[in-house]
Amino acid sequence: MPADLHLHSIYSDGSCTPARLIELAREKGLDTVALADHDTVAGIGEMIEAGAEKGIQVIPAIEFSTYQGEVELHILGYFIDYSSPSFQAEIKKLYEKRKERAAGMIARLNELGVRLSYQEVRNLAGSDYIGRPHIARAMVEAGHIREMKDAFSSEYIGNGGQAYLPKYKLDTAETIQLIHEYGGLAVLAHPYYVNGRDFMDKEGIEVLVKYGLDGLEVYHSKHSREATAYYLQIARELGLLVSGGSDFHGANSPGLEIGDIRLADKYVKRIRDYYQKRKTSSRLAQKRNCPHII
Ligand code: AMP
Ligand code: MN
Ligand code: MN
Ligand code: MN
Repeated sequence: MPADLHLHSIYSDGSCTPARLIELAREKGLDTVALADHDTVAGIGEMIEAGAEKGIQVIPAIEFSTYQGEVELHILGYFIDYSSPSFQAEIKKLYEKRKERAAGMIARLNELGVRLSYQEVRNLAGSDYIGRPHIARAMVEAGHIREMKDAFSSEYIGNGGQAYLPKYKLDTAETIQLIHEYGGLAVLAHPYYVNGRDFMDKEGIEVLVKYGLDGLEVYHSKHSREATAYYLQIARELGLLVSGGSDFHGANSPGLEIGDIRLADKYVKRIRDYYQKRKTSSRLAQKRNCPHII
């Protein structure tokens, strides 16, 4: 059965709880999903538990925003060791920075005459993880704009807009290293949609491969047929894993459903096999380095 390896929950900018995501995945006939919240693994324990109850396999994941020069990339870390306290400490800073940024954007909107309080947006988001989609929804609900997309303008919180503040982002090479350090596989999310450049071409991807990139999110809800074929070819040429997912955000991504993008079993199997192989070889390497540990 197919998989959807890119979902968001209330722990980042999705509107569904992990348990609800599992219910929806089951209704759609999926057997494997990955929770890939932005910069946080807070929902993964819940997701795995709910998945176990309903017979859905959950791949732990995270979606990091990184910078590569002027370009903002999103890097997925599949099978990341989400329960590691030191990993959680590493990513806490990203969460704190998000909170500051959201408060800053809301303050700017207030200056522009858009009355909105942090608490109002927080209530809607369900946590302190506030992204622009939450602010956009709060603006709709307060009657400032008609549709969420109206918020993403130069007047408000569109890229470079009057109330926009940039995100604190990690360096791309360091992020890939961090993912590897915690046992994960690094996959470039939606390569056709990156901020600051039209799209990632083969040359750009080759640079990431030098940093250790393991795969490409070839299948994505925003990828056209042509873009999909283009990245499938690049994945073949560069020997990269092929991944895919809907990037479902619930009510924060209107018109999109779980399973709208389905990754074929053979690709899921390759991802799993690659992960197992990596795990085994890193254990062997550890043993070699520490011969006294049996
Ligand atoms: P943030 O990570 O807080 O900067 O928010 C980025 C998110 O906002 C993206 O992942 C999209 O879900 C959403 N977004 C960005 N641009 C638009 C747009 N023009 N219309 C609707 N949603 C958008
Ligand atoms: Mn998002
Ligand atoms: Mn993304
Ligand atoms: Mn995403």
